[in-house]
Amino acid sequence: MKIVVLPGDGIGPETMAVTVEVLQAASVRFGLDLELIHDIAGHESLKKHGATVTPALLEKVKEADGLMLGPMSTYDFKDEAKGEINPSKFFRKSLDLFANIRPSRTYTGVKTITGPFDLVVVRENTEGFYADRNVESGNSEILVTPDVAISLRRITRECCERIARSAFELAMQRRKHLSLVHKHNVLKITDGIFLDACHRVAAEFPEVTVDDFIVDAMMAHVVRAPERFDVIVTTNMFGDILSDLTAELSGSLGLGGSLNAGAHNAMGQAAHGSAPDIAGQDIANPFSLITSAAMLLGWHAQRSGNLSYLQASRAIEDAITACIAAGESTRDVGGALGTQATGKAVVKRLQQT
Ligand code: ATP
Ligand code: MG
Repeated sequence: MKIVVLPGDGIGPETMAVTVEVLQAASVRFGLDLELIHDIAGHESLKKHGATVTPALLEKVKEADGLMLGPMSTYDFKDEAKGEINPSKFFRKSLDLFANIRPSRTYTGVKTITGPFDLVVVRENTEGFYADRNVESGNSEILVTPDVAISLRRITRECCERIARSAFELAMQRRKHLSLVHKHNVLKITDGIFLDACHRVAAEFPEVTVDDFIVDAMMAHVVRAPERFDVIVTTNMFGDILSDLTAELSGSLGLGGSLNAGAHNAMGQAAHGSAPDIAGQDIANPFSLITSAAMLLGWHAQRSGNLSYLQASRAIEDAITACIAAGESTRDVGGALGTQATGKAVVKRLQQT
């Protein structure tokens, strides 16, 4: 498996360095044919090559099986004509990574405000309120006068059906329960298509039980009783907001891993941003990025049928769970180790499995 590694900004380089060590250890332990291709994107690439993502890098990524993208600080990427493309948005669009899979669960050893839970938010990644900014079809945010603005949300049956299918397939591998999250009472047409598409796909998965929730009520349900959820599928913006809530409920943003998956490529990415306030201090939690790497290996196992990758993926997740329970973690989740020492603790457990 070929993986392109792009460290990113802020806490990106330090958490990616540790993630690479874990991937290498997993490769040795499980005999994987893993090739890591190191490159740059974002600010570093803009300075060196005049673009945040060069055409050559896109080609490399397309040829590889997967991509690990570190968090990117994007606040000053404003002018796409000058090559200031937001790499995360760019890869999601150009590789058509339509499924943003964001697991959240509690860990023994991390204090939370809820009881134990284990759920996955499946967020549509390619349309809806923010994915359509600056597309050829026009800008979905329009300034009509200096004081009046309009925002448009495009929803298509095709995209709803494919995200629903990903969510049902995931539910089949888990506890076989899927919750649909929407605002159909107000957004009758767009969320009407979403719900209709989900119910049509449901016919292909008779073993999966399905329920649905209006997004505002969902916020209360997920705080009050997160254990009742298994897989949750929703449109882009609702999934963005809901998955930050579930990541925080699990104890720390630093635990939130994610996978952006398409038909041919996948990109592992921490669910949080570049956290510049704690960058360079060796205190950032690397588990979010390591979990994302484990998800990427698991995705490759399914696609290639090579079960060594699945074993490696599960072993990394088990090593993280064991480290957290033993207090071998960063301080945001109750430990006393730095980023590097936390990574070494994961490597040591992997070598012992
Ligand atoms: P960006 O503009 O890149 O999103 P940000 O300032 O919004 O950066 P986030 O990365 O979104 O910062 O994170 C919000 C806060 O959560 C950070 O200030 C940081 O304290 C905390 N945090 C995020 N990621 C981690 C992590 N991996 N380990 C520990 N704390 C984290
Ligand atoms: Mg942020």
